[in-house]
Amino acid sequence: MVLGGCGKGTENTSGETAQADGLTVVTSFYPVYLLAANVTDGVEGVTLKNMTQPQTGCLHDYELTTEDMKTLEGADVLFINGLGMESFMDKVMGQYPDLFIVDTSTGSVTLAGDDHGHAHEGEEDGEEEVNAHIWLNPSNGVKQAEVICDALSQADPANADKYAANTATFSESMESVIAQAEAINAAPGTEVAVFHEGFPYLTDLCGLEVGVGIYADENEEPSAKEMAEAAEEIKEDGIKLLLAADDAGMKYAETLAAETGATVVELNPITSGELNKDVYRLGMERNLQILTEALS
Ligand SMILES: [Zn+2]
Repeated sequence: MVLGGCGKGTENTSGETAQADGLTVVTSFYPVYLLAANVTDGVEGVTLKNMTQPQTGCLHDYELTTEDMKTLEGADVLFINGLGMESFMDKVMGQYPDLFIVDTSTGSVTLAGDDHGHAHEGEEDGEEEVNAHIWLNPSNGVKQAEVICDALSQADPANADKYAANTATFSESMESVIAQAEAINAAPGTEVAVFHEGFPYLTDLCGLEVGVGIYADENEEPSAKEMAEAAEEIKEDGIKLLLAADDAGMKYAETLAAETGATVVELNPITSGELNKDVYRLGMERNLQILTEALS
């Protein structure tokens, strides 16, 4: 039998069934779950679980719970985002040394991360960080789905055709999302301010430049100096839009909006929500629609 592979469309004509004992697939967190849900949609015998709670958000500095570790019991494969998003992998590998772990970031196009001007734990000073929020570029989402498809085809060859067909369907649905982003066609040099580290992947897609980036989370907040400099830059560079998520960064966006007269635009980093495969596409489409309206 010749397999079409995960990068191209294949017609599913085989009538094969899943392994008798089924396949248990676990994802590290929400966006990886959504991508895996697209690849495994309707494939019999596959149980898909998300290791962390769907409201967890990004996994920066996340501590695994006993419950999370229990979810990995009996898993055949664990899909992670990679690029350092899962800083707890030593613990997972220590407890489950035989687990098939797949890094879905392979092949994705990455942006440089924000180094906040200092070294994080375990990093050399000045080492360049990679921005791990790759799923916010739909082309990367497709790449991640293809990595998932390849690994599942290896773990469960009987259903390889089905994974490939699902991945092709997902890839096709992303083509219109990418076209929607390209249609935004922002005027060259249009700058925005971003308040979520994932949003540079969205702005990059739409031809927008990040003039100001403030990345706050539970553990880190901008200093008064950084906020003052950001306000100055927003005014000097004529930045009109402040792109924030409904998270820790929102209050800083609102503060700067009040100081500068710029407008806060809320976008979805697709890090939490309903465990439904369509949320990835719908979230992307909505983000691009909001950006299109805000820029017009
Ligand atoms: Zn994040």
